[in-house]
Amino acid sequence: MYKVDHSLKRISIVLVLLSSIIAVALQHWKIVEYFDWVIYDLQMPLWSEKAPDDVLIIAIDEKSIAQLGRWPWPRRTHAKLIDRLSKANTGPIIFDVLFSEPTLQGDQAGNKLSDDERLAQSMAENKKIILPIAGVVSPQEGIQELLPIDPLFQACQSLGHTDLELDSDSKFRRVFLYAGLNDARWPNLSVAALMANNGVEKLPGQRREKSYYGRKNSWVRDYYIIVPIIGKPKHFHTVSYSDVLDGYIPLEALNNKTIFIGVTARGLAITYPTPLRFHQVMSGVEIQANIYEAVRSHNTIRELSHTVQLLVTFVLALLGSLIFSLANWTKNQFYLIALIVAVIILSETFLLLTHIYMPIVSVIVAYFISSLFISSLYLQQLKTVAETDSLTGLYNRHFFDINLAIMWKKGYKKQSYLSLLIIDIDYFKQYNDSYGHAQGDQTLKKVAQVLDQQGKLFSYKACRVGGEEFACLIENCPPNVAKIYAEKIRKEVELLGIEHKGSKIKSLVTVSIGVAGMVPNNKSNKQDLFNVTDKALYRAKKKGRNQVLEYHISGDDLGGIT
Ligand code: GH3
Ligand code: MG
Ligand code: MG
Repeated sequence: MYKVDHSLKRISIVLVLLSSIIAVALQHWKIVEYFDWVIYDLQMPLWSEKAPDDVLIIAIDEKSIAQLGRWPWPRRTHAKLIDRLSKANTGPIIFDVLFSEPTLQGDQAGNKLSDDERLAQSMAENKKIILPIAGVVSPQEGIQELLPIDPLFQACQSLGHTDLELDSDSKFRRVFLYAGLNDARWPNLSVAALMANNGVEKLPGQRREKSYYGRKNSWVRDYYIIVPIIGKPKHFHTVSYSDVLDGYIPLEALNNKTIFIGVTARGLAITYPTPLRFHQVMSGVEIQANIYEAVRSHNTIRELSHTVQLLVTFVLALLGSLIFSLANWTKNQFYLIALIVAVIILSETFLLLTHIYMPIVSVIVAYFISSLFISSLYLQQLKTVAETDSLTGLYNRHFFDINLAIMWKKGYKKQSYLSLLIIDIDYFKQYNDSYGHAQGDQTLKKVAQVLDQQGKLFSYKACRVGGEEFACLIENCPPNVAKIYAEKIRKEVELLGIEHKGSKIKSLVTVSIGVAGMVPNNKSNKQDLFNVTDKALYRAKKKGRNQVLEYHISGDDLGGIT
């Protein structure tokens, strides 16, 4: 028998709590990070900015390769370029080319100075050259710092690391402004350039936890920032290396500019996918320029610390999911969409205003889970209500009809007996007349209770199919056994001892029961079973009521009994 479940709200609050915990777990283990980056990437165009006029990329591009021959070029060529830049009195020059191997002697025949010495000389004269160092991993020696060869190391103004952090989708979005072997002592190339310019007041970014320091032979990183990309590839002012070398670029055009020199030629340049749409790849030198511009203009993005992220995730997931559990569940889909849109707008606005990034996909997952939990909870409840008779709590006519169709099919498949009881209260109209409708309802409930108990005892479901009419379908049960169950019901109702003055057969409430059973076959249908059982009930009434009567089915009864 069905009882209305008032604890539904309480259960849904527990589910909401559960989904919030799931969200925190997703956030903690960064399980949905990929989708967070997808949302982050959507707003990247909002960060676009005009290319700064005081930054210039000198590109080792296709044109320069065509003019100057195969890469790598003799270091004497770089020396000549630097001499030209020295004349122009530029700002710092970030030479994003690794010079970690000495030039072979054979290449330098006929010159007083070796190529490496010549380059070192130009660098020393220029005083503004910043060279890269890289972290490389070899199977024998583990991780190592790759420094420029000694004369260049001595001649350059400073060094900067080129270590870029790539995300799980291999895109460049983040960088550590300091890195190094066992100690994060090298600034990133762009920070080295800023220091050479006017210095940096305060570095942005998240500090690494202390425990990360001092581990033997580990690559240590510090000052973690997210870098907005301010434009598509080739966004920064760029000139060809060969044009500068050949004097096609006037010295005034180079004056006071921060210069980035690096390879952009297709096939030679190391490129990285960026958060820009259509997977636009960018050369390392352009990425360095973006980092430089972001740090210089205080336009870097900081990620909320892990603990705060977990806390915010929990609170947002809880608040949103609470709306599902407390509001009208039929509008669940509407709330779900509204909440997702709200949380995305909230996080993106927060990012644009504060430059703080907060991943929110785990919160969205929590909303989906809560919405799903609550919908299915209420739908389950709705299904139960739809199948239940509200007065007696028994199954209703709707359930009976569906169940009859299911059991008929099952019985047909298994070729097993399906029996039906139809129970009708005797002289119930008179009962109402004598005791009133309200009392009639109470009696209906008591009779229903008997049916429910008997049903539970013998594994069948009692249904209220009409005003004072009930029906029980019993599967795997021949009619002679069903008749015993029916007799039990009749007796139990009589034993209730409910007074009925108006009854013409006994001064107690009694029932008449029709019984029939058959093995479903193709000659008959489920309606036949109902009709013959009803016929049996009619006969029981006619024979004097308060009795069980079985209809013995013969072939003639099937296929259209009315
Ligand atoms: P019989 O012995 O031939 O079955 O006679 P009866 O009076 O029981 O049969 P009849 O079909 O003439 O009357 C059924 C009555 O059941 C009519 C109606 O007043 C009563 N009834 C039907 N539904 C309800 C209900 O939900 N509550 C109450 N109190 N009475 C109901
Ligand atoms: Mg009746
Ligand atoms: Mg009736």
